[in-house]
Amino acid sequence: MAWRLLTKKESLWVQVIAAKYLKDDNFWSHSVKNTASSSWNSIMAVRGHLKKGCCRIVGDGSLINIWMNPWIPTIPGFRVSFNQQGPYPHLEKVKDLFIPNELAWNRELILRIFSPFEAQCILNISLPQESTEDKMVWTLTPTGQFTTKSVQLMLSLDQGSSSTISSIPWKEFWKIKDVTPRVHTFVWRILLNGIGVNANLSNYVASVSNECAHCHLESETIEHLLLHCPKAQAIHFASPLSLCLQNGDTIET
Ligand SMILES: [Zn+2]
Repeated sequence: MAWRLLTKKESLWVQVIAAKYLKDDNFWSHSVKNTASSSWNSIMAVRGHLKKGCCRIVGDGSLINIWMNPWIPTIPGFRVSFNQQGPYPHLEKVKDLFIPNELAWNRELILRIFSPFEAQCILNISLPQESTEDKMVWTLTPTGQFTTKSVQLMLSLDQGSSSTISSIPWKEFWKIKDVTPRVHTFVWRILLNGIGVNANLSNYVASVSNECAHCHLESETIEHLLLHCPKAQAIHFASPLSLCLQNGDTIET
């Protein structure tokens, strides 16, 4: 029901419900009043789960808020890492990142504002040939249509990793100056578990084994590959820092 509320704005019952409960409020940030009905309360309660699977598909970019909405499919969470609108008050909707009156990304502007990784992910989004309305898709099914089964699958895969991610001070992280953009982005992807190690790939590709391709001893998680794999430990030790890592060491976040 919550999914239909987001995607079937033209249907009568959605308009009635939105007028009664949301009024002009935002679906995602709306706070529920005590007097609301139990079905409205349950719609509001599943918002957190919906948030993880919803992504907007850019059409004419007029309905998508650059800073708040999920719209970049190749970034975990589908959102920009933090709200940088402050210095750019005129940039609010995704269409503000287009070349004026064209359906084309303003490459120069995007590279100036976002981190190199985010900029690249944005520039990789292909825009439609003709102006179409922005759409909402559900990313956890191949068809983009919402199913309750896919939510259950998401919940079973989602064992508490998101609480670690949200506790990272991203604003401070992106302010760090003395690293190259490449290393910065790489560390960011490590923290989000966004590296194509075998343990991650094997979740999605049946023919990939999760085994470490270097030592064949353990599952190739990011932590194993960077800290615990005998090959990694040899490299750390041979480095100018002569690091001697123990197996109990973890990536602190
Ligand atoms: Zn290994």
